[in-house]
Amino acid sequence: MNKNKILVTGGCGYIGSHTIIEILEQTNFEVISVDNLMNSSLNTLDRIEKITGKKVKNYVIDLCNIEETEEIFKENNDLVGIIHFAALKSVPDSVFKPLLYYHNNLNSLLNLLQLAEKYAVNNFIFSSSCSVYGNVSKLPVNEQTPLSLAESPYAYTKQIGEVIIKDVVRNNDMKAVALRYFNPVGAHISGLNGENPINKPTNLVPIITQTAIGIMKEMNVYGYDYDTRDGSCIRDYIHVTDIADAHIKAMNYLIKGKNKENYEVYNLGTGNGVTVLEAIKAFEKVSGLRLNYKMAERRPGDVVAIYSDTTLSEQMLDWKTKFSIEDMMSSAWKWQQLLLEEKK
Ligand code: UDP
Repeated sequence: MNKNKILVTGGCGYIGSHTIIEILEQTNFEVISVDNLMNSSLNTLDRIEKITGKKVKNYVIDLCNIEETEEIFKENNDLVGIIHFAALKSVPDSVFKPLLYYHNNLNSLLNLLQLAEKYAVNNFIFSSSCSVYGNVSKLPVNEQTPLSLAESPYAYTKQIGEVIIKDVVRNNDMKAVALRYFNPVGAHISGLNGENPINKPTNLVPIITQTAIGIMKEMNVYGYDYDTRDGSCIRDYIHVTDIADAHIKAMNYLIKGKNKENYEVYNLGTGNGVTVLEAIKAFEKVSGLRLNYKMAERRPGDVVAIYSDTTLSEQMLDWKTKFSIEDMMSSAWKWQQLLLEEKK
């Protein structure tokens, strides 16, 4: 049988939904999603349909429940691969609720791997994070950079997740790629799908757009006296569609057997470090607005600067980012305006 279907876990979430859109737009793969809607909504499936013209089936199932999850594998005997996004992802939240994070992120992964092995779904892409590197002393960060102590339970679930996958695929027919994201931002370039933070956001870009639209009165730039070109922190912001694209490239890479090891890791960043003030300027440029921001104290836990070395991912996955910081800001801004329209 020609296996042609990809199971996307967390398909109603931010990166999952953008990946489904790219799969439907760029490939002949079929897609199904599993999402328990813990931090997402079924509206996302309508947004996907609006953009792609295609309906996607979602199973509202908690991956921590192995019996229910197994039904997906029984119903779909044509799965060629799994892209596993479903996880809790807030760093500060994980510090307050470590048990929830360890329980959710690790049990779901264990169940999924067990079922993938049982049903011979041999290609597995794991959503990891540059937070696995912890505090780094040498920039840019490449895949050989040693992992230091995780700074949060969230980051630790990604570190442990990677180890679990590596150990599992050593002993069966599976192959896996872990993709370590830097700072995914922006929205679909149409502005019709994006991140929809249910709680008050803590990430820079949603805070910028919420301030611009008036949900927040003003915003803080956390730290203005760092040893960087303008005193604010440096990050590697990457457009969510570029991240999505890398998942397709990684899946094809595994399916075609181009991998050298059964388990490989790749960084997903642009390689460009952007300061907080430069990000704000990019937003002001594309929106034509002045943002109400003030310089504030450093935020505890922030590293001064981190950005990716993109050499390996570009070379091995045949992938290159397409979107600029202006694209990231303009798409995020379109999306924020759509959200406001929908509330009216
Ligand atoms: N940041 C900021 N003001 C905010 C939110 C974030 O100055 O309201 C800064 C933050 O200190 C960091 C950068 O923006 O230097 C990116 O933060 P974010 O939380 O988006 O991602 P992180 O890199 O911390 O995962």
